[in-house]
Amino acid sequence: MTSFSAWLADVSRSSTVGGAATELGLFLPAHWALLAVFSFLFGCCIGSFLNVCIYRIPLGQSVVRPRSHCMRCGSAIPWYHNIPVVSYFALRGKCASCGAPFSFRYAAVEAFTGMLFTAAFCTFPAVGAHPPFGLRPLLLPVAATGSWAQLQPLLAIPVEWVFLSGLVLGSLVDFDHLIIPDSVTIGGMVAGIALSALVPQMQTNVGFAVIPGVGLFPVLRHPACALGAVVSSLIGLCAGFALLQTIRVGGTWTMRRLGRIGRDDEAMGFGDVKLLGAIGAFLGWQAAVFSLVAGAFLGLFGAVPALLRRPKTVEGGEGDGVKGDGPRRIPFGPFLAMGAAIWLFWGHRLVCSWLLLVPPWRLRLPWL
Ligand SMILES: [Zn+2]
Repeated sequence: MTSFSAWLADVSRSSTVGGAATELGLFLPAHWALLAVFSFLFGCCIGSFLNVCIYRIPLGQSVVRPRSHCMRCGSAIPWYHNIPVVSYFALRGKCASCGAPFSFRYAAVEAFTGMLFTAAFCTFPAVGAHPPFGLRPLLLPVAATGSWAQLQPLLAIPVEWVFLSGLVLGSLVDFDHLIIPDSVTIGGMVAGIALSALVPQMQTNVGFAVIPGVGLFPVLRHPACALGAVVSSLIGLCAGFALLQTIRVGGTWTMRRLGRIGRDDEAMGFGDVKLLGAIGAFLGWQAAVFSLVAGAFLGLFGAVPALLRRPKTVEGGEGDGVKGDGPRRIPFGPFLAMGAAIWLFWGHRLVCSWLLLVPPWRLRLPWL
C-alpha cells in the first residue's frame, strides 16, 4: 500500500497548477480572486456580444455594424447605456429614448455567460486548494516542476471560454429558430481541432491505470502532444457525428413508418448532428457520448411540459418559432449543449463515481 499512497501523493502534486504558479511567484490567493472577478466581467461583455449574434446571425446580418440600436425607435444605444447587466437594471429594462421594453433575456444571457466564464476560470485551482464546487481541475504535465511549461495548461481557460460561448450562441439560436448556425457547428469543428492542437488538455478523458495492490483505477489523462490531441479531436468529431446521425436516420425511418411525421419530415435536425460533432472535436469522444446521453435525459424533462402544452392543431402562430403543422418541435441543441457543459465541469467526476460505485459527492480522488 505504500506504493499506492506514494502514487496518490505524486498525482496530487502534479495534478494542480497551483504549485507551479506559487514557485514562479505568479498567483497569490488575492490575484486568484481578482482574476475570478475579471472572468465574470469579461464573460458579461462577451454575453452582450452573444446577444447581438443570437439576434443577427439567423437574419444574415452583420454582427459588427450597425451599432446596437433600439428595435422600435432605431436610436443608437450609447456605450454608457450598453454596460452588460448593469444598464438593464439602471434603465429598468427600457429604451432610454422611447421607453420600449427590452427583454430580460439580454441581461440573463450576459450574467449567465459571466458565470460560465467564472466556472471555467475556477478549474484553475487557487494555490493549495482544489477547485470549488467539485469542478474538474486543470491537469498538468508531471515533469518540469515550477517552469513556465507547466503553466501552458492555463491556455485551456480561454479555449473553454470560446467553447462555452459557442454553446450559448448555438443553444439560443436553436431555441428561437430551430436551427443551429453553421458558424457554430462547422466553425466549432474546425476550432475544436485547431485549439486541441494548441491545448491538448482539452482532450481530457477518463482512462485506467494499474495500481499495484489495488487493481484498475480510473485516472484522468490527455494526449501528450499536439498530434495526439488532433487525432483525439478527430475521433471525437467522428464519434459525435456518427452517433447522432445514426440516431437521426433510424429515428426518422421509425417515425415515418409509424406515421408520426410526414414523408418528407425529419425526426431531428442535421444541425444537432453537426453540433455533437463539434462537441466531440473540442472535448473528445467521451464528451460526445456523455453529452448525447445527458442531453437525452435533460431533453425528456424539457419535452414533457412542451408536449403537454402542445396545441391540437396548429393553424398559424400558436407558440413562437413553431412550424405550421405537425407536432410541436423541440430544439435538441440546448440540451446537447447543457450535457457538454456538465461534462466540461463535472463529467469526469460523474464517470469516475459511476465506475467506482461511489456517489459523486463522496468521491475522493486526488485530481477531482
Ligand atoms: Zn427606443
